[in-house]
Amino acid sequence: MIDFHCHLDLYPDPEAAIEAAAAAGSYVLSVTNTPSAFLGTARLALGRSRIRTALGLHPALAHKRWGELDRFDALLKTTRYVGEVGLDGSVELREHQAVQLEVLAHILRSCVRVGGRIISLHTRRAAGSTLDMLSSHGEVGIPVLHWFSGSATELRQAIGLGCWFSVGPPMLHSGRGRDLVALMPRDCVLTETDGPFGTDRRRPLQPGEVSAALSGLSMVWGEPEDEVSARLRENLRRLVQAVDTKDS
Ligand code: MN
Repeated sequence: MIDFHCHLDLYPDPEAAIEAAAAAGSYVLSVTNTPSAFLGTARLALGRSRIRTALGLHPALAHKRWGELDRFDALLKTTRYVGEVGLDGSVELREHQAVQLEVLAHILRSCVRVGGRIISLHTRRAAGSTLDMLSSHGEVGIPVLHWFSGSATELRQAIGLGCWFSVGPPMLHSGRGRDLVALMPRDCVLTETDGPFGTDRRRPLQPGEVSAALSGLSMVWGEPEDEVSARLRENLRRLVQAVDTKDS
């Protein structure tokens, strides 16, 4: 199983969650919400060859944690993965829009400078402005839009910018989510849980628990689940290889 956006450090028992994901052989992108959470979260993945830890600064925390951007830059040299970063245009965060934009601009400039990063992006109610930021910053690396919920027009714009997408069970349970997934190029899609925030019937998804997303993709794509799984593994291989070669 591939879980390209999961908050391992935010489960009640992170060790147990990781143990279960590792036992299942899942590939996990372990995203973080603040630079100060990065090292401790990366330590959880020590010795786990299928877990990668991403360096993040969540847009909902941008106004509280922008002071950690220097730390972000220092840590960016140690990982090829960035996330969770992005913009959130929810009403309750609207007063912090300016600082969100500044924080994301800083992060994207840093990504351009180091090159070869894979970026897991949050775009809730802010798909258009996130895409504007991506297009104005140039070679930021490879953006992976997580749980995309923008419009079909914005989705086409994202595809034009070379974005990838990580989709999870909640997205595939909704008709609107499935319509968006149907528009995504199949070779730019990965699965995710967004656990423990992503849920299935109110129960937090466990790391790597993407089987409902696989059956959803199988339905949307009209492909048997084993072919969907093989395609996603091939996608992951290609994505990682794309930044490996840029890194040399
Ligand atoms: Mn998340």
